[in-house]
Amino acid sequence: KLDFAGKLARRLGAPVREEVVHAVDGVDLAIRRGEVVGLVGESGCGKSTLGRMVAGILPPTAGTILRDGRDVATLPPAEAREIKLRTQMIFQDPYASLNPRMRVADIVGEAPLVHGIVARSEFDAYVDEQLRRAGLDPAFKRRYPHQFSGGQRQRIGIARALAVKPDFLVCDEAVAALDVSIQAQILNLFMALRRELDLTYLFISHDLGVVEHLSDRVVIMYLGRVLEEAPAEEVFRRPNHPYTQSLLASVPRIEARKRAFSVVQGEIPSPLNPPSGCHFHPRCPHAMERCKAERPRLREIAPGHRSACHLNDAAAGTA
Ligand code: SF4
Ligand code: MG
Repeated sequence: KLDFAGKLARRLGAPVREEVVHAVDGVDLAIRRGEVVGLVGESGCGKSTLGRMVAGILPPTAGTILRDGRDVATLPPAEAREIKLRTQMIFQDPYASLNPRMRVADIVGEAPLVHGIVARSEFDAYVDEQLRRAGLDPAFKRRYPHQFSGGQRQRIGIARALAVKPDFLVCDEAVAALDVSIQAQILNLFMALRRELDLTYLFISHDLGVVEHLSDRVVIMYLGRVLEEAPAEEVFRRPNHPYTQSLLASVPRIEARKRAFSVVQGEIPSPLNPPSGCHFHPRCPHAMERCKAERPRLREIAPGHRSACHLNDAAAGTA
């Protein structure tokens, strides 16, 4: 039996432009300890909102986040702080979150010092260890963020996150701003860290190609809803949902591409005013009358593989 360490976000809403919209709607996401879950969707689909809620940065307006089976909103302050430290977020633009007036050593070592994770006497050795682990030469620790390349800055961000001993990393477009060759290096680093430190990841990306190699499970979101969820292999070999199929069409060098899916047509509708029924119907090549009126349920179509599309009912003879 798997040790259930995950989080659960259900019917979460978040304020957007002073209106409460269901930026995330009816999402029920469980992440097991040691698992890497890839969360994929176009911009505006709610994946960053979900990531921030899961990381404890953004409180949900409704719904529950469970950590180790306990509701994080009701934890005593000391435990809530501990959970927050154990959950670290890595962003697309590390530069924006690195204080330009701080030296790398302090950027990486400040939080562990403040939280008593490391003693002042151990500070230097501790910082060196974090930098080395993130693939940076400790010799550069007296430098400032602007003296590093984009990839190195992301490594500084990773070293800073690891320095507080998290067991769960939420990576939001963590490689999106990097050149492709650097992307691969950083993705490899994430995978090495996973093995070394037993990390759990929620890996958020607009790019299926990025999550392909590192995810155990992939969750596809569109306008605040999960449309498909499956073991990574299944998503790439047997994508069920028309939206997933369209996303796959834009990913180069994968097997599924040979099936010549059409690229996603049209603009993403506003999350403030999502289409009726199946949110994807205005862009779906298979849309039927029913799709405009009726929201498809996310249901299991194979073990561990869930999809929300009326075509599955038709296939099952229940349409
Ligand atoms: Fe397309 Fe209808 Fe399936 Fe939505 S429910 S993905 S519109 S076929
Ligand atoms: Mg985003």
